[in-house]
Amino acid sequence: MDKCSFCGRDKKDTNLLIAGISGHICDSCIEQAYAIVQEESKINSNLDLHELTLLKPMEIKAFLDQYVIGQDAAKKYLSVAVYNHYKRLLQEDDEEEIEIEKSNIILVGETGTGKTLLAKTIAKMLHVPFTIVDATVLTEAGYVGEDIESILTRLLQASDYDVEAAEKGIVFIDEIDKIARKSDNPSITRDVSGEGVQQGLLKLLEGSIINVPPQGGRKHPDQKMIPVNTKNVLFICGGAFDGIQRKIAQRLNTAVVGFNASKVAEKVDQENFLQYIAPQDLKSFGLIPEIIGRLPVLTYLEPLDRAALRSILTEPKNSIIKQYNKLFSIDDIELTFEETALEYIVDKALEYKLGARGLRSICEAIMMDAMFELPTSGEKSVLIDAKYAASKLEKANIKHLRIA
Ligand code: ADP
Repeated sequence: MDKCSFCGRDKKDTNLLIAGISGHICDSCIEQAYAIVQEESKINSNLDLHELTLLKPMEIKAFLDQYVIGQDAAKKYLSVAVYNHYKRLLQEDDEEEIEIEKSNIILVGETGTGKTLLAKTIAKMLHVPFTIVDATVLTEAGYVGEDIESILTRLLQASDYDVEAAEKGIVFIDEIDKIARKSDNPSITRDVSGEGVQQGLLKLLEGSIINVPPQGGRKHPDQKMIPVNTKNVLFICGGAFDGIQRKIAQRLNTAVVGFNASKVAEKVDQENFLQYIAPQDLKSFGLIPEIIGRLPVLTYLEPLDRAALRSILTEPKNSIIKQYNKLFSIDDIELTFEETALEYIVDKALEYKLGARGLRSICEAIMMDAMFELPTSGEKSVLIDAKYAASKLEKANIKHLRIA
């Protein structure tokens, strides 16, 4: 008579007995073993969290340096905020009396300067669920658009509906500036996509238990909700805040009137006002004070200059050029970019005012023919110089890139 090799039960006493090479296992032992596996993996994921704290802010920054060019101020702020965030998570178990508050982050900088990239890279380093949402699609409950809870639906999807993992995840809310209050007098007309959304976001940012529709979209009465606690979700908001430089300048100029005025004025760098950004500038832009209060870490990204764009092409760990090299090497083709070609690509990105975002589209246009022809033609090497790049780019219809 066959027996379970684990508990010794006879086959007739089990619902199911599965045979292996040199033994058997019954259904109840399978269930128990599965529970042990689950428990073990939970312990391991907690261990991860402990290991994380071993990464000090400087090490976090060094990791970011591998993927993101420049933006030292933002990297430093992010590193410290993330470090503190995870210290806070660990401290929760200790039940100490001093509660460290959550350090949600707001990044201000022109589009295409690396805000999303920074948030993505942080998430990659931490191995936590990560999602990007666009604030422009959010509307107050009851209006056309997505409910604010849908942000958490995305986070749940990113964690395969593992609620516990999602509750330690990171949400990047892009274009937060687009939900700024449109006017100083919100009572005249309903500001559907502005202040109402900010109010809705508040409860997410500050940390509370939110009922999340598992499939997203509009809530409807018979959908089963999943409660998600956002207390430990890290929110990183990003926005271009077009025109905020003027508000900063105004504030600085009014501030310099009076005592010590000339000294302060001397120190102000008139080229880049963003470095002086302060919470009150976000308020003049139209974010409500409660939201600003929930985003205590405020930092900025610099516009990318020529040198930065040139570095972005080749230096990051997965830079665009390294990616092409890899693609070609799979077919045993040696790809070489001459410096003149790289300079040409940067020139075009600047000319079309496309920033870093344009580098990739320009490269694609230049490389298309080679990627199409070489795998068949059998040529084993290809050299891209400025002349080659120019001829391909002129041929490609990239005028549409200009409007971006
Ligand atoms: P933002 O969120 O600020 O609008 P992104 O982070 O989406 O900009 O950047 C767009 C693309 O440009 C990224 O995919 C990345 O390849 C590149 N990029 C932008 N800034 C940088 C940077 N500082 N270092 C490296 N790559 C960058």
